[in-house]
Amino acid sequence: MNSLYVHLPFCKSLCHYCDFIKFIYQEKWIKPYLEALKRDLERFFPTSLATIFLGGGTPTCLNLEELESLLVLLSKYSKGVKEYTCEANVETLTKEKLLLLRRYGVNRLSLGVQTFNDKILKKIGRRHSKKDVYQAIKLAKEVGFKNISIDLIYGLPKQTLEDVKCDLIGAIKLEIQHISYYSLLICPNTIAHLSSWEEAGEDKEAAMYELILNTLEKNGFMRYEVSNFAKPGFESLHNLTYWENREYYGVGYGASGYLNRVRYSIGGNFSSYLNGKAKIKEEIIDDATYKDEYLMLNLRLTKGFLLSDYENKVKEPFPLNSQIVTRLISEGFLKIENGRVSCTRESLIKLDYILRKII
Ligand code: SF4
Repeated sequence: MNSLYVHLPFCKSLCHYCDFIKFIYQEKWIKPYLEALKRDLERFFPTSLATIFLGGGTPTCLNLEELESLLVLLSKYSKGVKEYTCEANVETLTKEKLLLLRRYGVNRLSLGVQTFNDKILKKIGRRHSKKDVYQAIKLAKEVGFKNISIDLIYGLPKQTLEDVKCDLIGAIKLEIQHISYYSLLICPNTIAHLSSWEEAGEDKEAAMYELILNTLEKNGFMRYEVSNFAKPGFESLHNLTYWENREYYGVGYGASGYLNRVRYSIGGNFSSYLNGKAKIKEEIIDDATYKDEYLMLNLRLTKGFLLSDYENKVKEPFPLNSQIVTRLISEGFLKIENGRVSCTRESLIKLDYILRKII
């Protein structure tokens, strides 16, 4: 079964920390964009889909009519899909849009919350408040969403451990199924970078992560990936495709995909894309890169990978008895259990160190 990612690179406003490919929404772009998406879909022709993910940008910044055109376009591909996710932000969600999403089979909502602290929300350029989050989740539940995820960020400017505690209380109160909790990354060419936001620092971030992990676990959210926590049975099937290094289709300006051992990205000039001249960059994944990516992605998961799966796909046995792996095991970074290799509970946050050693 396959997965499809659909990129909608439009937002109503730009968050100060964001380095995704996106533009301020302009109505005149949407019709040609949907036409271009149709061309992408016809080019890649996704079949046997198990998951679809509408991401961005902000898919819900499209107006009701535009959103319906998008869903109609995708309806040809969405039959039988198990997990159909739409990313949304709080201020662009209305009851009508939520009902429309449900009508076309969207069964998972992923909401950008980032923090429940109104002062910090303002500082990072978000347009919603804590109250709006509660309202949006209430509406989503009323129209029948039973699989709701939120994104949160820790290590935000001047955020304290106490602030993170409050965010955790806010998140748990929502009674949702999934939480993605990322540390703030200050990327070049973002307002955050240009205005020299102060980074939290390694120790503070580690303390915040520890607090997040312990609190969420105590409240029924299991960590299944470095930054992702879910109630049992609510792990994101779509994102597991990426972490398990499986192939997927990607369509839309700024999207990337992975098919037949080729990673591709759709880019170039935006107007050319709209005019049917999408520039597709391709990278053939050779055996050495495949092996590195297999380890980098699968070790992000708490379940790690099966030794047999590694051997099957990488075409060589995992070097269990090598000096490096033996040392990582004896020092408590890696563990082998039931034929699986994974990071230990404490070491998952030190994944970069582990990967530097084994790649
Ligand atoms: S809404 Fe999302 S995609 Fe748009 S600017 Fe903010 S973080 Fe970036």
